Amino acid sequence: MADRQPYEIARETLKQLATRRLAPTPDNYLAIYDEIAGTRSSQPFPDAQLSSIQRLLPAQTPPQKRLLTQFERAIATKDWSALQSVLVGYANLGLSPVAAAPVAAPEGAASGVLPPDFAELLARLIDNTLPALGEDDARVHDMAGQLTGFLREPAPPLSTVQLMLGNFTYRLSFATEDQAAIRASLLQLLHMVFENIAVLSVDDRWLRGQAEALMAASTPPLTLRRLDDVQLRLKDVIFKQTEAKARTAEAQEQMKDLLATFIERLAQMTASSTTYHDTMERCADLIGKANNLQEIAPVLEEVMTATRAMALDTKLTHTELQELRERTDAKHAEVAKLQQELDRASAQARHDPLTGTLNRKGLDEAMEREVARARRMGNPLCVALLDIDNFKNINDRLGHTVGDAALVHLAQVTREVMRPQDLLARYGGEEFVLLLPDTNVDSGVAAMTRLQRELTTRFFLQGSEKILITFSAGVAQLHDSETSVDALKRADQSMYLAKRSGKNRVMAA
Ligand code: GH3
Ligand code: MG
Ligand code: MG
Repeated sequence: MADRQPYEIARETLKQLATRRLAPTPDNYLAIYDEIAGTRSSQPFPDAQLSSIQRLLPAQTPPQKRLLTQFERAIATKDWSALQSVLVGYANLGLSPVAAAPVAAPEGAASGVLPPDFAELLARLIDNTLPALGEDDARVHDMAGQLTGFLREPAPPLSTVQLMLGNFTYRLSFATEDQAAIRASLLQLLHMVFENIAVLSVDDRWLRGQAEALMAASTPPLTLRRLDDVQLRLKDVIFKQTEAKARTAEAQEQMKDLLATFIERLAQMTASSTTYHDTMERCADLIGKANNLQEIAPVLEEVMTATRAMALDTKLTHTELQELRERTDAKHAEVAKLQQELDRASAQARHDPLTGTLNRKGLDEAMEREVARARRMGNPLCVALLDIDNFKNINDRLGHTVGDAALVHLAQVTREVMRPQDLLARYGGEEFVLLLPDTNVDSGVAAMTRLQRELTTRFFLQGSEKILITFSAGVAQLHDSETSVDALKRADQSMYLAKRSGKNRVMAA
């Protein structure tokens, strides 16, 4: 059979695969090919499996390093005999107690034992890593438990620690990948929820703005700071939506009542006026046919009665409609009161309805959080206060609505230009506060100057007119023992100085 051409053997192999109803896998194909050709093909080299073994091997001592390099080369060249020498090398290495000792081993580790301080440090590192992994992978927790237990035993042998640590690291890499994937898909889910809120709240500008801000805030990279923001905004949105739903339900009920009563009355009125009309026609006919006054008298009587009844009916309907109207007015007043209460309650929210930035309450909370965070981490924190220059002119020349749009534009540019962790709040009419974490005063001034520059290129367009918005700002870096209120006061004084010195400038406090 060996003299058959390869293509003939291949054809026969395919035929046999079909006849024997075997799955057309590479392994089945190879087995049948060999059977027909009377040959024995070499098995594929298991690079992947060998590479995973290679990752677990120690590389501390020079002999270990050398063997590892040889192992790598053997895999790369798919050389079984080289692999064999490496394995023999490892076997011999294990017999030599000196070989297992680490290079330049610290004192006390000469015998291949991990120094107790180092072992404890490693154990603590593992303990601290575990909470970040969640509880999904029980095996990684078991391995960690064994490893930390072993590390805390007296004089843990280095070689065993290395092996256990290698295995643990391998398993850990899967667990961390899983965590990253879970986080990414949770974030995606969150995004979908926010998209849904945005679609559902097309009629409510405020809610829609909030939903869009939520979408932006839940875009990777995710940080604790951003999650805080998402949480606060979501609270506001849930509150507002619950209120809005109650209001809509009430308005709908009222509409239904009104409509039902109106239709009922309309039907009654039509019925009585039709009867009246019929009576009148009949009476007119009788009068036309009457030959004397005696004949007309009862007809007139009937006309009088019908007219009186009609008048009474109309009066009754009028009174009823009047009552209905009064009831509706009362309901209206009730709803208006509710709306007022809702507006007052909305003021409890943390975001400014016009610009979507934090409001005073939101700023107070954010400030408290950022100051605590800066103190805990020992990082600098800057507070900047900006006031739009000659804003009154924009209002006077183009109207209050355009003024409002200018404020929205400024907030939008600021959000785009500043870093994601910087927080923007509307402090007053045309005054904004920026919280700049991990920023010293020089960088704070530089950041605000960059914002000024960006505003000169990103015009506020009003029809075809380009309106240049400039601002004056003061920047203060929070002192160690200073309250945030005092830092803000200093920023305000510097802002005032910037105004006095000709506006459109940034000054450090
Ligand atoms: P300066 O450069 O000194 O700051 O001058 P200015 O005109 O900006 O300052 P001033 O304090 O005299 O005026 C601020 C104006 O901002 C007055 C007020 O009508 C207007 N303003 C405050 N809040 C709003 C708002 O929400 N919308 C609009 N359109 N205007 C507002
Ligand atoms: Mg002002
Ligand atoms: Mg101003």
